[in-house]
Amino acid sequence: MEGLDIDITPEVLKVLRREYEAAKEKHPIFAGSLYQAVSIVAEEAGELAQAVNDGHEREALKEAAHVAVVAIRALEMLMEEEE
Ligand SMILES: [Mg+2]
Repeated sequence: MEGLDIDITPEVLKVLRREYEAAKEKHPIFAGSLYQAVSIVAEEAGELAQAVNDGHEREALKEAAHVAVVAIRALEMLMEEEE
């Protein structure tokens, strides 16, 4: 994410990079369709809500990163379709 002209802290970028690489290794193919991609984003958002509702802050942090990563992968998918 070098050259990104928005103010994301190095700590956040580090977590995003780690989770992004882990997700790509675990699931090299993100989704078979945009519908599945949206479903995966919603699933991760649900996991974040669950962690917050249960008062599990550490888990919530991890799930927030998952939401960001699957949203990035959905964005990549959308951008590929535009090319
Ligand atoms: Mg998750």
